[in-house]
Amino acid sequence: MAKLIAGNWKMYKTPSEAKTWFQDLVKELPSTANAALMVPFTALPYAAEILEGYAAWGAQDVSVHVEGAYTGEISAKMLADLGCSYCLVGHSERRTYHGESDSLVAQKALRLQEVGITPIVCVGEPLEVREAGKQVKYTLEQLAKSTQGLDRFVVAYEPVWAIGTGKTASSEDANAMHQALKETLPGGTAVLYGGSVNPGNASSLFAESYIDGGLVGGASLKIADYLQLLAAAVG
Ligand code: PEP
Repeated sequence: MAKLIAGNWKMYKTPSEAKTWFQDLVKELPSTANAALMVPFTALPYAAEILEGYAAWGAQDVSVHVEGAYTGEISAKMLADLGCSYCLVGHSERRTYHGESDSLVAQKALRLQEVGITPIVCVGEPLEVREAGKQVKYTLEQLAKSTQGLDRFVVAYEPVWAIGTGKTASSEDANAMHQALKETLPGGTAVLYGGSVNPGNASSLFAESYIDGGLVGGASLKIADYLQLLAAAVG
């Protein structure tokens, strides 16, 4: 089976743009691809209609509450009803811009687990931690706190300094971190790498034995680039 390539569209594409993109993707998607797309909430109904049988889909965040008077929130049950297989939690953009703590991330992931959606728990160190050489300790602690109480999840290791910056961890550095993470995780837990993955660096990253796939922002927005990543993950 090919390694999983999860796209993270962030706040890009209107529902109509997403619909056309999904229709174009399924025409070209090889059956060997292991694709999942984390799209804006507003694109999920089209994902459910068009991607079934071709790719998995999911959201980029979820409410920590089950239901109730929480204006503007989207619950895990709503995502399950839209057929989501996955949902990101703790993306560094949410930790930074919305002040999300490790314990909030763990509680959101639990809401997903309760309805059968696999959380993709994002962790990774900021630049100053990497420069001080403390990235393994930092990321292991963040992971332990962000997954408390969970028993089935995917991890995305995304060094914060590499997200959307064009800078990537070397394949060897990323692999070493993935090995350290996997040694503390339940057997079989997939660890994806994220941070400026693109068609130029994908093959060397996905060739590494502890890297189980990718979480990809910018390069998941164009079908041609996304198809190249999926091909690199087939090996
Ligand atoms: C991301 O959004 O999780 C990400 C890794 O973005 P990019 O690939 O653009 O660095």
